[in-house]
Amino acid sequence: MAVSEKSIESRIDRLHAHGLVDLHFDLPMDLYEKRGRQDVLETDFLPELEAGQIGVIGAAIYIEDRYLPEMALRVALGQIARLFAEVQQCDRFAICENYTDIVRARQVGKIALLITMEGVEPLGTDLDLLRVFYELGVRSIGLTHVRRNAAGNGGIFAASGSPRDGLTAFGREVVRECEALGVIVDLAHINPAGFEEILAITTKAPIVSHTNARCYYDVERNISDEQIKMIGERRGVIGINSALISSGQKEATLDGYVDHIEHVTNLIGIDGVAIGFDFFEFIYRQWSESEREEFHAKFTNVHFVPDLANHSHARNLTRKLIERGFSDEEIEKILFGNWMRILKELL
Ligand SMILES: [Zn+2]
Repeated sequence: MAVSEKSIESRIDRLHAHGLVDLHFDLPMDLYEKRGRQDVLETDFLPELEAGQIGVIGAAIYIEDRYLPEMALRVALGQIARLFAEVQQCDRFAICENYTDIVRARQVGKIALLITMEGVEPLGTDLDLLRVFYELGVRSIGLTHVRRNAAGNGGIFAASGSPRDGLTAFGREVVRECEALGVIVDLAHINPAGFEEILAITTKAPIVSHTNARCYYDVERNISDEQIKMIGERRGVIGINSALISSGQKEATLDGYVDHIEHVTNLIGIDGVAIGFDFFEFIYRQWSESEREEFHAKFTNVHFVPDLANHSHARNLTRKLIERGFSDEEIEKILFGNWMRILKELL
């Protein structure tokens, strides 16, 4: 290794010393689908998480269409059950409910898992169940995925055409109850009308755990410059998604990912941007040909970035940020500091 390469590697080591925070990962659903196996966390996930020096993961409960509506609650509980069982089997992880838990887990070198929920289908229309999930450790909730549910409408994978209406009365109650309980309201996926409505109801710093800038990929699922500014005005944070960088495969690159970081930074400053990788190529690879076709029909232009496709690639991102001229202080905020500020403030 040349001297300069060595010094870059040790600079990345330094920047990764605290451990990276990725606030969106579809971990529980995969553990649930593999519930017949033991030690899935240790075998399938730990090596990549360690290679990327990941310190905190937002582990998202997500219910696939085939389980809706009847099985949503059961599958959500099953996902949480597998997460607890797996963490018991592997002492490298800790399920955390607040900032102190996270700091303690990190001090002893464990990877902190924060349970999140992507789409409130498991609640049905029963607000009391929100309290149950809170007691189980859920600390961040996004109301919808791409689809419509009892709380509201998800932004679609097209430049326009999602329902004009925002939240339902139930959706507004969920948002208010989340703030009262101390659950973060995640604006990822919600349609533009719902986005504004949530901001009008809430008072705390808003987050969008995993999204991209519409100026590079113009679909309602991503967020516009106006929306980015709304988050910035309230000192919120936006996590950049790795799978929705561009509608074209050629532009879905590591540089493209950094373009999104730069764009958000230009609009609202370095304190407003972080990572929400949303790696799911590992799930995609497990699907049958027909499941993949169904996926592509629904989400037209999802492209995985070859050198940013799983957590072991996190060092590639940091190397790219260095190459693109970000300072150490800025990189630490993107990889770690901004999410940690939010978690400290909101949990
Ligand atoms: Zn998502």
